[in-house]
Amino acid sequence: MTDHREPCRPSCGSAALPGKTGTVPLPSGVNEVSLGFGDLAVDRAGIASVLGYREATMPEHFGELLDVALGEAAVRCRPRAGFRVLAGGRAEGRLDAVRIGDAVFTTQKIVAGALARAEHAAVFAATIGPDFEQWAREALGTDPVLGFIADAVGSACAEALADRLHDHIEAVMAACGRKITNRYSPGYCGWSVAEQHQLFALLPAGFCGITLGESALMHPVKSVSGIIGAGPAVKHSDYLCDVCNMRDCTYRRYHERRRAAV
Ligand code: SF4
Repeated sequence: MTDHREPCRPSCGSAALPGKTGTVPLPSGVNEVSLGFGDLAVDRAGIASVLGYREATMPEHFGELLDVALGEAAVRCRPRAGFRVLAGGRAEGRLDAVRIGDAVFTTQKIVAGALARAEHAAVFAATIGPDFEQWAREALGTDPVLGFIADAVGSACAEALADRLHDHIEAVMAACGRKITNRYSPGYCGWSVAEQHQLFALLPAGFCGITLGESALMHPVKSVSGIIGAGPAVKHSDYLCDVCNMRDCTYRRYHERRRAAV
Protein backbone atom coordinates (compact mmCIF):
# COMPACT_ATOMS: atom_id res chain seq x y z
CA MET A 1 0.00 0.00 0.00
CA THR A 2 1.46 3.39 -0.93
CA ASP A 3 1.13 6.43 1.32
CA HIS A 4 1.78 9.90 -0.05
CA ARG A 5 0.55 13.47 0.23
CA GLU A 6 -0.87 15.12 -2.84
CA PRO A 7 -1.71 18.78 -3.36
CA CYS A 8 -5.40 19.63 -3.35
CA ARG A 9 -5.98 19.69 -7.08
CA PRO A 10 -7.77 17.18 -9.26
CA SER A 11 -5.64 14.59 -10.95
CA CYS A 12 -5.78 10.90 -11.65
CA GLY A 13 -3.29 8.58 -10.02
CA SER A 14 -0.60 7.23 -12.25
CA ALA A 15 -1.34 3.64 -11.28
CA ALA A 16 -4.68 2.29 -12.43
CA LEU A 17 -7.15 0.65 -10.10
CA PRO A 18 -8.99 -1.95 -12.18
CA GLY A 19 -12.58 -0.83 -12.72
CA LYS A 20 -15.53 -2.07 -14.74
CA THR A 21 -15.28 0.98 -16.98
CA GLY A 22 -11.88 -0.30 -18.07
CA THR A 23 -9.41 2.22 -19.37
CA VAL A 24 -9.65 5.30 -17.14
CA PRO A 25 -7.27 5.07 -14.19
CA LEU A 26 -8.43 5.95 -10.69
CA PRO A 27 -6.15 7.03 -7.84
CA SER A 28 -4.60 3.99 -6.21
CA GLY A 29 -3.13 3.48 -2.76
CA VAL A 30 -3.69 5.85 0.14
CA ASN A 31 -3.78 9.54 -0.71
CA GLU A 32 -3.30 12.31 1.82
CA VAL A 33 -4.49 15.70 0.56
CA SER A 34 -2.60 18.86 1.41
CA LEU A 35 -5.04 21.36 2.95
CA GLY A 36 -4.26 24.25 5.28
CA PHE A 37 -6.54 26.25 7.56
CA GLY A 38 -6.78 28.95 4.89
CA ASP A 39 -8.31 26.42 2.48
CA LEU A 40 -11.20 25.64 4.81
CA ALA A 41 -13.21 28.85 4.28
CA VAL A 42 -14.82 28.41 7.69
CA ASP A 43 -18.31 29.89 7.66
CA ARG A 44 -18.60 32.44 10.53
CA ALA A 45 -22.31 32.99 9.84
CA GLY A 46 -22.83 29.21 9.96
CA ILE A 47 -21.20 29.02 13.38
CA ALA A 48 -23.36 31.91 14.60
CA SER A 49 -26.40 30.01 13.36
CA VAL A 50 -25.34 26.83 15.23
CA LEU A 51 -25.03 29.04 18.33
CA GLY A 52 -28.61 30.22 17.78
CA TYR A 53 -27.98 33.66 16.24
CA ARG A 54 -28.07 35.42 12.95
CA GLU A 55 -24.59 36.87 12.47
CA ALA A 56 -25.89 40.47 12.49
CA THR A 57 -27.89 40.03 15.71
CA MET A 58 -25.27 38.15 17.70
CA PRO A 59 -24.50 39.94 21.00
CA GLU A 60 -21.27 41.91 20.63
CA HIS A 61 -19.49 40.00 23.40
CA PHE A 62 -20.33 36.65 21.79
CA GLY A 63 -19.11 37.97 18.46
CA GLU A 64 -15.82 38.98 20.08
CA LEU A 65 -15.43 35.52 21.68
CA LEU A 66 -16.22 33.91 18.32
CA ASP A 67 -13.44 35.96 16.74
CA VAL A 68 -11.04 34.96 19.53
CA ALA A 69 -11.85 31.29 18.93
CA LEU A 70 -11.51 31.66 15.15
CA GLY A 71 -8.15 33.37 15.65
CA GLU A 72 -6.94 30.50 17.83
CA ALA A 73 -8.28 27.98 15.30
CA ALA A 74 -6.24 29.64 12.55
CA VAL A 75 -3.10 29.09 14.62
CA ARG A 76 -3.84 25.73 16.24
CA CYS A 77 -5.73 23.70 13.62
CA ARG A 78 -3.54 21.14 11.86
CA PRO A 79 -5.80 19.83 9.10
CA ARG A 80 -5.04 16.37 7.78
CA ALA A 81 -7.29 14.58 5.33
CA GLY A 82 -7.05 11.66 2.95
CA PHE A 83 -8.77 8.83 1.17
CA ARG A 84 -8.37 5.44 -0.42
CA VAL A 85 -10.35 4.25 -3.44
CA LEU A 86 -11.48 0.63 -3.44
CA ALA A 87 -13.93 -1.44 -5.45
CA GLY A 88 -17.32 -0.86 -3.84
CA GLY A 89 -21.07 -0.87 -4.23
CA ARG A 90 -24.18 -2.47 -2.81
CA ALA A 91 -23.48 -5.93 -1.39
CA GLU A 92 -24.81 -8.65 -3.66
CA GLY A 93 -28.29 -9.82 -2.67
CA ARG A 94 -28.71 -7.24 0.10
CA LEU A 95 -30.65 -4.00 0.15
CA ASP A 96 -29.15 -2.87 3.45
CA ALA A 97 -25.43 -3.43 2.96
CA VAL A 98 -22.43 -2.15 1.04
CA ARG A 99 -19.29 -4.05 0.06
CA ILE A 100 -16.02 -2.09 0.00
CA GLY A 101 -12.99 -4.15 -0.91
CA ASP A 102 -13.51 -7.39 1.03
CA ALA A 103 -15.50 -5.75 3.83
CA VAL A 104 -19.30 -5.76 4.08
CA PHE A 105 -20.95 -2.89 5.99
CA THR A 106 -24.56 -3.08 7.16
CA THR A 107 -25.20 0.56 6.37
CA GLN A 108 -29.01 0.25 6.10
CA LYS A 109 -30.99 1.27 3.06
CA ILE A 110 -30.20 4.99 2.59
CA VAL A 111 -26.49 4.38 2.10
CA ALA A 112 -26.85 1.02 0.36
CA GLY A 113 -29.37 2.57 -2.05
CA ALA A 114 -27.08 5.53 -2.78
CA LEU A 115 -24.21 3.17 -3.62
CA ALA A 116 -26.39 0.71 -5.57
CA ARG A 117 -24.88 1.78 -8.90
CA ALA A 118 -21.40 2.60 -7.61
CA GLU A 119 -18.38 0.73 -8.90
CA HIS A 120 -15.92 2.16 -6.41
CA ALA A 121 -15.94 3.87 -3.04
CA ALA A 122 -13.57 6.40 -1.54
CA VAL A 123 -12.97 5.64 2.13
CA PHE A 124 -11.95 8.93 3.75
CA ALA A 125 -10.89 10.47 7.06
CA ALA A 126 -10.15 14.06 8.08
CA THR A 127 -9.17 15.81 11.29
CA ILE A 128 -8.19 19.26 12.51
CA GLY A 129 -5.73 17.64 14.94
CA PRO A 130 -5.52 17.75 18.73
CA ASP A 131 -4.11 21.24 19.44
CA PHE A 132 -7.21 23.40 18.98
CA GLU A 133 -9.34 20.80 20.74
CA GLN A 134 -6.98 20.94 23.73
CA TRP A 135 -7.13 24.76 23.79
CA ALA A 136 -10.95 24.66 23.65
CA ARG A 137 -11.05 22.19 26.55
CA GLU A 138 -8.81 24.45 28.64
CA ALA A 139 -10.93 27.49 27.71
CA LEU A 140 -14.01 25.66 28.97
CA GLY A 141 -12.40 25.48 32.42
CA THR A 142 -11.62 29.21 32.61
CA ASP A 143 -14.41 30.77 30.52
CA PRO A 144 -17.30 28.35 29.83
CA VAL A 145 -18.88 30.62 27.20
CA LEU A 146 -15.63 30.88 25.27
CA GLY A 147 -15.14 27.11 25.64
CA PHE A 148 -18.65 26.46 24.32
CA ILE A 149 -18.10 28.75 21.33
CA ALA A 150 -14.65 27.20 20.73
CA ASP A 151 -16.23 23.74 20.62
CA ALA A 152 -18.64 24.97 17.92
CA VAL A 153 -15.71 26.49 16.02
CA GLY A 154 -13.82 23.17 16.20
CA SER A 155 -16.83 21.30 14.81
CA ALA A 156 -17.23 23.86 12.02
CA CYS A 157 -13.54 23.56 11.10
CA ALA A 158 -13.75 19.74 10.94
CA GLU A 159 -16.93 20.02 8.88
CA ALA A 160 -15.33 22.55 6.51
CA LEU A 161 -12.30 20.27 6.13
CA ALA A 162 -14.56 17.33 5.24
CA ASP A 163 -16.36 19.58 2.73
CA ARG A 164 -13.06 20.49 1.05
CA LEU A 165 -11.99 16.83 0.96
CA HIS A 166 -15.39 15.92 -0.51
CA ASP A 167 -14.92 18.63 -3.17
CA HIS A 168 -11.41 17.34 -3.88
CA ILE A 169 -12.59 13.74 -4.29
CA GLU A 170 -15.36 14.95 -6.59
CA ALA A 171 -12.82 16.79 -8.75
CA VAL A 172 -10.44 13.80 -8.82
CA MET A 173 -13.25 11.46 -9.83
CA ALA A 174 -14.54 13.88 -12.46
CA ALA A 175 -11.06 14.00 -13.98
CA CYS A 176 -11.25 10.20 -14.17
CA GLY A 177 -14.72 10.23 -15.76
CA ARG A 178 -16.66 9.29 -12.61
CA LYS A 179 -19.42 10.96 -10.66
CA ILE A 180 -19.76 10.71 -6.90
CA THR A 181 -22.48 10.26 -4.31
CA ASN A 182 -23.09 12.16 -1.10
CA ARG A 183 -20.71 11.25 1.69
CA TYR A 184 -21.86 8.90 4.42
CA SER A 185 -20.46 8.16 7.86
CA PRO A 186 -21.06 5.54 10.54
CA GLY A 187 -23.52 7.12 12.96
CA TYR A 188 -25.61 8.80 10.24
CA CYS A 189 -28.45 7.68 7.95
CA GLY A 190 -29.09 4.61 10.12
CA TRP A 191 -25.52 3.26 9.80
CA SER A 192 -24.24 2.04 13.18
CA VAL A 193 -21.26 3.95 14.54
CA ALA A 194 -19.81 0.60 15.69
CA GLU A 195 -18.81 -0.10 12.05
CA GLN A 196 -16.27 2.72 12.37
CA HIS A 197 -13.77 0.02 13.38
CA GLN A 198 -14.35 -1.87 10.14
CA LEU A 199 -14.02 1.36 8.17
CA PHE A 200 -10.67 2.28 9.73
CA ALA A 201 -9.44 -1.27 9.08
CA LEU A 202 -9.41 -0.26 5.39
CA LEU A 203 -6.93 2.55 6.14
CA PRO A 204 -3.39 2.40 7.55
CA ALA A 205 -3.16 2.42 11.36
CA GLY A 206 -3.24 5.97 12.72
CA PHE A 207 -4.27 7.39 9.32
CA CYS A 208 -4.01 11.22 9.43
CA GLY A 209 -3.19 10.91 13.15
CA ILE A 210 -6.68 9.58 13.97
CA THR A 211 -7.18 6.69 16.38
CA LEU A 212 -10.37 4.97 17.54
CA GLY A 213 -11.46 4.30 21.08
CA GLU A 214 -13.35 1.14 22.02
CA SER A 215 -16.65 2.99 21.68
CA ALA A 216 -15.67 3.90 18.10
CA LEU A 217 -15.16 7.55 19.06
CA MET A 218 -12.41 9.17 16.99
CA HIS A 219 -9.43 10.91 18.60
CA PRO A 220 -9.02 13.78 17.95
CA VAL A 221 -12.77 14.19 18.43
CA LYS A 222 -12.98 16.88 15.75
CA SER A 223 -12.56 14.32 12.99
CA VAL A 224 -14.81 13.05 10.22
CA SER A 225 -14.70 9.70 8.43
CA GLY A 226 -16.87 7.88 5.93
CA ILE A 227 -17.38 6.73 2.39
CA ILE A 228 -18.27 8.30 -0.96
CA GLY A 229 -19.53 6.14 -3.81
CA ALA A 230 -18.16 6.67 -7.32
CA GLY A 231 -18.97 5.53 -10.83
CA PRO A 232 -20.36 6.71 -14.14
CA ALA A 233 -23.97 6.03 -13.06
CA VAL A 234 -24.11 7.33 -9.46
CA LYS A 235 -25.50 10.72 -8.53
CA HIS A 236 -25.38 13.25 -5.74
CA SER A 237 -28.77 13.67 -4.10
CA ASP A 238 -29.44 17.24 -2.99
CA TYR A 239 -32.82 16.27 -1.56
CA LEU A 240 -31.82 13.18 0.40
CA CYS A 241 -32.21 14.89 3.78
CA ASP A 242 -35.58 16.55 3.21
CA VAL A 243 -37.53 13.74 4.85
CA CYS A 244 -35.01 13.02 7.65
CA ASN A 245 -35.56 14.50 11.12
CA MET A 246 -31.86 14.59 12.12
CA ARG A 247 -31.82 18.39 12.06
CA ASP A 248 -28.23 19.11 13.18
CA CYS A 249 -26.59 16.61 10.84
CA THR A 250 -23.30 17.92 9.46
CA TYR A 251 -24.10 16.48 6.02
CA ARG A 252 -27.47 18.18 5.85
CA ARG A 253 -25.68 21.54 6.14
CA TYR A 254 -23.25 20.54 3.38
CA HIS A 255 -26.11 19.59 1.08
CA GLU A 256 -27.97 22.81 1.88
CA ARG A 257 -24.88 24.93 1.16
CA ARG A 258 -24.27 22.99 -2.05
CA ARG A 259 -27.88 23.44 -3.14
CA ALA A 260 -27.72 27.18 -2.34
CA ALA A 261 -24.53 27.55 -4.39
CA VAL A 262 -26.18 26.22 -7.59
S1 SF4 B 1 -29.86 14.66 7.54
FE1 SF4 B 1 -29.37 13.63 5.61
S2 SF4 B 1 -27.23 12.93 5.80
FE2 SF4 B 1 -27.99 13.43 7.86
S3 SF4 B 1 -28.72 11.47 8.72
FE3 SF4 B 1 -30.50 12.49 7.73
S4 SF4 B 1 -30.55 11.68 5.61
FE4 SF4 B 1 -28.53 11.18 6.49
